[in-house]
Amino acid sequence: MCCDLKRRFLLLYATQKGQAKAIAEEICQQAGAHGLEADMHCMSEMDKYNLETEKDPVVIVISTTGTGDPPDTARKFVKKIQDTTLPPDHFTHLQYGLLGLGDSEYTFFCNGGKTVDRRLQDLGAQHFYDTGLADDCVGLEIVVDPWIDGLWLALKKAFILQKEKEGMSSNAVPSTLSAALHIGNELNLSSEVQNLKLEDGVRSSVVLTQKLVDIHLEASTTDAEPSLVHSVPPVSQSALNIPALPPEYIEVQFQDTHGENPHLSSLISEGTTFEVPVTKAVQLTREDAIKTALLLELDIADAAFDYQPGDAFCVVCPNNVNEVEELLQILGLSDKEEYLVCVKVKQGTKKKGATRPQHIPERSTLKFLLTWCLEIRAVPKKAFLRALVECTSDAGEKRRLQELCSRQGASDYTRFIRDSNVCLLDLLHAFPSCKPSLSLLIEHLPKLQARSYSVSSSNLYQPGRLCFVFNIVEFPACPARPVPRKGVCTGWLAELVAPLLHPSKNTLDTKGGSSSTEKISIFARPNNTFHLPADPSVPLIMVGPGTGISPFIGFLQHRQKLREEHTDWKFGETWLFFGCRHQDRDYLFKQLKCFLENGTLTHLKVCFSRDSSTAEVAPPKYVQDVIRLYATEVARVLLKERGYFYVCGDKHMADGVSNAVVDILSMEMEADKLEAMKILAVLREEKRYLQDVWS
Ligand code: FAD
Repeated sequence: MCCDLKRRFLLLYATQKGQAKAIAEEICQQAGAHGLEADMHCMSEMDKYNLETEKDPVVIVISTTGTGDPPDTARKFVKKIQDTTLPPDHFTHLQYGLLGLGDSEYTFFCNGGKTVDRRLQDLGAQHFYDTGLADDCVGLEIVVDPWIDGLWLALKKAFILQKEKEGMSSNAVPSTLSAALHIGNELNLSSEVQNLKLEDGVRSSVVLTQKLVDIHLEASTTDAEPSLVHSVPPVSQSALNIPALPPEYIEVQFQDTHGENPHLSSLISEGTTFEVPVTKAVQLTREDAIKTALLLELDIADAAFDYQPGDAFCVVCPNNVNEVEELLQILGLSDKEEYLVCVKVKQGTKKKGATRPQHIPERSTLKFLLTWCLEIRAVPKKAFLRALVECTSDAGEKRRLQELCSRQGASDYTRFIRDSNVCLLDLLHAFPSCKPSLSLLIEHLPKLQARSYSVSSSNLYQPGRLCFVFNIVEFPACPARPVPRKGVCTGWLAELVAPLLHPSKNTLDTKGGSSSTEKISIFARPNNTFHLPADPSVPLIMVGPGTGISPFIGFLQHRQKLREEHTDWKFGETWLFFGCRHQDRDYLFKQLKCFLENGTLTHLKVCFSRDSSTAEVAPPKYVQDVIRLYATEVARVLLKERGYFYVCGDKHMADGVSNAVVDILSMEMEADKLEAMKILAVLREEKRYLQDVWS
């Protein structure tokens, strides 16, 4: 619903983890101060907007998920615009600006946004503003903040153009818009920091000029080095541009009555959850290995849970119990942890379209809320810091929090918050006079996400069982965070299975072993492409160093079973390239040679990056180096025999492997590098070069 005086634009977002939505809300929030009104909708709400008839400018914020896919909430929209029967002038009436979110750690950076952008262009839509592609790897705000800053002027120009097109005089531009245009120009022309008179209803100025306060926190003002709690000139002496204070919109009520917590499955919108017993835990690495890898086996016999080798699934995990208790203590709520919390939208809130976040139950105990619903480890966004300023009583701490969310303090934010992976608890320790309310936490902390894992077994080989392999993620202490931590999910799983762990029992055979009563909740996350070829006679190459080997264990188990069951079938050649640091410490599945012995695996090539060698010619360290040694065979499998090439593991390795493949194709085909890259692109398109990449 839009106000008559303000110019409307359509704002669509498609979010997977809530970031695109939060950015859209920020745009919506700022729009008022610019004399504009955002008509905001999730892209999936296709009954609420109609691009076919849209006259006003459209702003799209869209993230990327999986291997370059648009978020689930954009699927229907993308399918609709990808309809090949649409004529090339279908959207010529449309002018739009698009902000794509992605992570350059993953292949197909920002592909969700790029896909929509490309298709809208193909259908004749016009950009009124350059596309922004923000990278979560270095900090979304690096692109998002200036993109939003520039959006207002671009929108205003778009409105003027639109009016001109409609043949109306500029006098018809609403007065608030002309005023806003004036402000926009001032903002662009003047480099001086100035106080702006903003529209009524905007609770904080965009530009804050305040009397500077001395900061006497942990460090003295004479210290030259900035830190999380201490700033130095020029930041410490600047007038600050800080974001507008986000309006409060959540209200909580505590009830001293016992009540049932909701079932975990009610928190999951992505699919059906199953509570399954952990039947086995094996430590695959030796005690002296740099990383600890565990294999867990789950009993899925009684769950209607189906999977194929190559699929992933998600584990619903809680926050660390000590961290939850610490948070309760700092918030002064320890005595209320078993109280029921009723969460409602605050009456009369200024936040447009405010609703209770989907991941927050209407009623649950305080402990449940902090344990299962909120990602308390999330790196606080600038809007959260801005809100925390209001709950901080110490003037010095207040000023530092303002700096950290200000434009002037952008590099301090990146260095001391984002890159240091500081979380709410770290901030509350560093700024002890900051006492936020529970409702503020609900407003600003994102959903605690379930973690994905690749299946490392075959349902044919071990019916009713599902295995997966993971490294326990360790975050050592650092100046901003004096306590070491473990990954939320992997740390929790490691603790959960500690009683049934087989120390250093490096085994593929997960039959038998100890059983436990521990259960975890999981749900499916099928992979559409990372599967064995339908035709078993097709040759395949698998590259999976470290825990990247996980899905290939499933592939090999599956193949072994098929070979046993179908002795008359023809099976293609199979190659596995595996690598780890030390042969005797973290060679996760030494029993791979069983697959070699029984003929399931034709070639096993391994390398060890940290073992010293006495050989005259040093052996290759990394899988990509080993692949180069088998250039002729790789080219034969891929080009002559139309085989499949699978890569699983981290992005850095995957890039190294694709570079090696490009070099191999170029050498073996006597083609230049560009030509080889095109061939690799075709292989990707044919789904014969497949990656499952996670960091
Ligand atoms: P988290 O607590 O989520 O921390 C992990 C990340 O948070 C770090 O990588 C880092 O970016 C950041 N971080 C948080 N705090 C800090 C800090 N203080 N210092 C530095 N960085 C910090 N993993 C496997 O091991 N095996 C698999 O088979 C597997 N398959 C996957 C399949 C898919 C499709 C996807 C998307 C991911 C897969 N992963 C796999 C990764 C897995 O989902 C988790 O991300 C991983 O296990 C870490 O989860 P966690 O909760 O323990 O760590």
